Amino acid sequence: MPAQQNDARRAALVKGASRAKIKALVNLGACTGCEVCIAVCPVPNCIEKFGEDPTSFGVYVDYEICIGCQLCAKDCPWDTIRMVPTPAVAGHKTSLESQFKHEHALFQNPQLVPEDIRTFVGKEPVKDPVIVELFEKQNPVVPVV
Ligand code: SF4
Ligand code: SF4
Repeated sequence: MPAQQNDARRAALVKGASRAKIKALVNLGACTGCEVCIAVCPVPNCIEKFGEDPTSFGVYVDYEICIGCQLCAKDCPWDTIRMVPTPAVAGHKTSLESQFKHEHALFQNPQLVPEDIRTFVGKEPVKDPVIVELFEKQNPVVPVV
């Protein structure tokens, strides 16, 4: 896991990210955990990985510091990230909360992620048609290695 940001750095990031009109949403159902997105994201700690077991591979985006630069969406080898309008994920802490399906192992094992980002627990999958439509175009066939 990357080094934690200091408070001043994070505050500056939050300020910039608050102006972003789009945010990166990772579809956990198709993420292979390859970490390419983490490598290309210019914002430290914005994308974090959880789970080393193939059945629980996945990453999440911290919306509070995502600046909407789209680099992760362009470079994801599995076409697993969509840029979505910020209002479509308003009130969500991370992309884990914005999943349009709850089929990933995470939803049976929320302890895989830190307690402060388990904001998806007990909530229904997102039904916003904007998000659903964006991911419906995704190729669903992704091999688990
Ligand atoms: S680049 Fe795509 S498949 Fe790889 S970890 Fe990121 S979201 Fe998942
Ligand atoms: S859109 Fe940019 S800032 Fe946001 S998660 Fe992707 S690479 Fe990081």
